[in-house]
Amino acid sequence: MITNLIADARKIVIKIGSNTLADIDGKFNFSFLDEFAEQAAALIKKGKQIVVVSSGAQVAGLSAMDKWARKKDIHYRQALCAVGQVQLMKAWRRAFEPHSLHIAQILLTREDFNDANRTLNMRNTLFTLVDEGIVPIINENDTVSVEEIKIGDNDTLAARSAILWSADLLILLSDIDGLFDKNPKEFTNAALVEEVKDISLIEKNITIGAANSFGTGGIATKLDAAKLSLSYGIPAILTNGGKPRCIEALVSGAQKGTVFLG
Ligand code: ADP
Repeated sequence: MITNLIADARKIVIKIGSNTLADIDGKFNFSFLDEFAEQAAALIKKGKQIVVVSSGAQVAGLSAMDKWARKKDIHYRQALCAVGQVQLMKAWRRAFEPHSLHIAQILLTREDFNDANRTLNMRNTLFTLVDEGIVPIINENDTVSVEEIKIGDNDTLAARSAILWSADLLILLSDIDGLFDKNPKEFTNAALVEEVKDISLIEKNITIGAANSFGTGGIATKLDAAKLSLSYGIPAILTNGGKPRCIEALVSGAQKGTVFLG
């Protein structure tokens, strides 16, 4: 199923969660970026178009400003993301460079999606970049996104971006293999749900546990994002970005995940 979905999709949005971009001790996982860029480049060579939604500004910021690690004040957190966004893009550029691929940074807020003019501009920019063989890397603009105007999680941002760009497929990379009947981090006997045809129904039959330290949305926002994306006919896959060469493994059918089809 996953293999077929990817084979049939030309335009793919891939969202990479904070937990995938941070290693076990909370440091920025640079090797993931290199491995991801190599696999994305291989897909692009095969004629696929890729848009990346990348979290990780905060984790990247902490690598540069570890003295701010304990500062919880909102202005410091926004400042940390502003510092981290530069580190993040530097890392992405370095990762894609060996494959002769340029990247572009797009920072968005909820307001941008509510304004017809801005939406049109965003859409046109995305199309132009991708048509020119550039890999757009989207993130929320944390500097201007105070709580009230925040999209708040990159799962929703990824779904909105997929809709805006008329993508064929949305892939959410997290630190779990997919949706489970209960939190796999708490329960060793949690069972993976491989296919979801009715999200509202599955929501009633599973237990949603807490998100991880760097994660913002948790599994609930992934379900909401899948719902949003499906309402525009775009199927979604939730899978583990922490597995070795996860994109290749998905393409070959070696890696499992949850496919949202309805
Ligand atoms: P990311 O940063 O990758 O977006 P989040 O921390 O926001 O990830 O969300 C993923 C986390 O949700 C998982 O690490 C897992 O511990 C937690 N979780 C809670 N309940 C479930 C469930 N029923 N199935 C899968 N994951 C769950």
